[in-house]
Amino acid sequence: MTRIALLGATGSIGRQAIEVIEASPDLELVAAASGTTAIDGLAPLTQVGGDLTELLDRAEPDVVLNAVVGFAGLAPTMWALEHGVTLALANKESLVAAGDLALAALERGGGSIIPVDSEHSALFQCIQLGEPESLVVTASGGPFRGRTRADLVDVTPAAALAHPTWNMGPKITIDSATLANKGLEVIEAHFLFGMPYDRIDVVVHPTSIVHGLVRFRDGASIAHLGYPDMRVPISYALTYPARASTPVPPLELTTLEFFPPDHDTFRMLGLARESGVRGGTYPCAYNAANEVAVAAFLTGKIGFLDIAAVVEDALGRVTGAPAQTLDELYAADRAARDAVQLP
Ligand code: NAD
Ligand code: MG
Repeated sequence: MTRIALLGATGSIGRQAIEVIEASPDLELVAAASGTTAIDGLAPLTQVGGDLTELLDRAEPDVVLNAVVGFAGLAPTMWALEHGVTLALANKESLVAAGDLALAALERGGGSIIPVDSEHSALFQCIQLGEPESLVVTASGGPFRGRTRADLVDVTPAAALAHPTWNMGPKITIDSATLANKGLEVIEAHFLFGMPYDRIDVVVHPTSIVHGLVRFRDGASIAHLGYPDMRVPISYALTYPARASTPVPPLELTTLEFFPPDHDTFRMLGLARESGVRGGTYPCAYNAANEVAVAAFLTGKIGFLDIAAVVEDALGRVTGAPAQTLDELYAADRAARDAVQLP
């Protein structure tokens, strides 16, 4: 029996995780937490708000499934890594913000990270077949694929929230519309797989059937395919190295299309890569400024194109100095949020 602590239990990933856990006799939900919404009777230990690491201390899980959204996921990520507890990681923001410190904690704790993000689950599975030369992360392109900057000046939050292939929480859905999500995923892949940025490519693939592809030095490439349904990577992360059955149907092959990303229109992708290459706390600042900008867009304070402008401006106002401690990282996150100037 695998004892699972689920953080972010009321969210998009959280609710699908509960479905996966309830369908498996080998998985037991021992603790659940959410930010604000009540989750009565879900698990022996259930908490709304409060200190997530205290809950984990009490729960003593085998696996922490971190499905909290945003930088708030950092504390449980670090708890799992320090304690050598398997981390099933959906919360990409924590790894992006704390990459170097998280990898040091992983080393100290001796546990493992099993990615839940679909592209990284795909790459994780492909990489088991050999040493990768380079990685390809696919992007749906979001609801505004094919649009120009002029088209996007007045788009509403409702339009940006209408994702073509994935049904997800609001923050990641806006990130998908700006391609910040793909930017965060490039940084996530860099830390998860130890891959230099110039060997992580992004390709737009509108139907989200191919989730990731790994190129090997002999000229072979292995891709991971499947319908866009997060129950598959959630199930894989919770049962790894075994595979459990899911309700997702077997894949019928159809025409697959791939396009280069439009960097001029979707500047958040390039800004993420630049932040990653600069290193230090630039990825943390990119993430923090993006969280502030997305919240401002969703509440109608700024326009869609302002998101990238605001983040680029904030990145110019921070030092990006590496964080030696978690306290320094929290300070860098705070500084980046304070550096954001809304137009
Ligand atoms: P969501 O907004 O639907 O759910 C977020 C969950 O986190 C909610 O349960 C909320 O109550 C909880 N939460 C927020 N702040 C909290 C706090 N301080 N303490 C405790 N709980 C808190 O988000 P989502 O779409 O499920 O995404 C969750 C994470 O997974 C994000 O990092 C996202 O990037 C990543 N992810 C999501 C998907 C997807 O399909 N939804 C795919 C890949 C990766
Ligand atoms: Mg993803």
